[in-house]
Amino acid sequence: MEKFLQQLPKLAKDKHNENKKFFDKLKKKSPKNMDYIMQDLHDREFERTDCLTCANCCKTTGPLFTTADIERIAKHFKMKPQQFIEKYLRIDEDNDYVLQSVPCTFLDAENYCMIYDVRPKACREFPHTDRKKFQQIANLTLKNVAICPAAYNIVEEMKKKIV
Ligand code: SF4
Ligand code: SF4
Repeated sequence: MEKFLQQLPKLAKDKHNENKKFFDKLKKKSPKNMDYIMQDLHDREFERTDCLTCANCCKTTGPLFTTADIERIAKHFKMKPQQFIEKYLRIDEDNDYVLQSVPCTFLDAENYCMIYDVRPKACREFPHTDRKKFQQIANLTLKNVAICPAAYNIVEEMKKKIV
């Protein structure tokens, strides 16, 4: 996994134009069973990819925090939402609450999330490869393939499966 993670930014860069063309085509016309295909590709990929050997999303990007996330996690720490914000978050250029720094402060040395049960919705859903109408988040996915080995593999499989 370590080697793959090192190569991933370059691999993703090399595939960027090809991936962009593929998603542009997919946005115009996608298979009727698109959601079914994606669920299958997602499930197969995560049967062989163990996030505990990776944690690259937690180490390099981190999620955005919704109001509901902030309230839930602050409660977990018995803090007021405002205290939680001041201690851990900042506002980014899109006006979203994000981590003050990465790797995520809630990631432990064994790649476990210390707030797993109450983690942000974005963490639960990343890399979004099992969401409905996956073709609608093409721009995000084009970025995520440079961070997430599973997303990279899933997009490679998509291109073989959907022609
Ligand atoms: S979701 Fe992707 S980047 Fe995050 S730990 Fe799993 S494989 Fe790695
Ligand atoms: S909250 Fe947990 S899952 Fe989300 S980035 Fe931090 S360590 Fe990873």
